[in-house]
Amino acid sequence: MLRNAPARDREVIVTDPVCGMEVEEPLTFRATFAAHEYSFCSEECRAQFVASPEEYVAPDGSAPRR
Ligand SMILES: [Zn+2]
Repeated sequence: MLRNAPARDREVIVTDPVCGMEVEEPLTFRATFAAHEYSFCSEECRAQFVASPEEYVAPDGSAPRR
């Protein structure tokens, strides 16, 4: 744990599975795959993910999502 600023509880940092960039939820660019929701930094990354999600995450949703 780095910092624990209790400013906004709903602010969650997740990793864009396509480019690896850290993005902050809630985001506009989202996609659901294998019952998991993923967030992206841009529509471009989202489109890439939607085109072939299995290239970025395991179909069982085992990819780290924190
Ligand atoms: Zn991205």
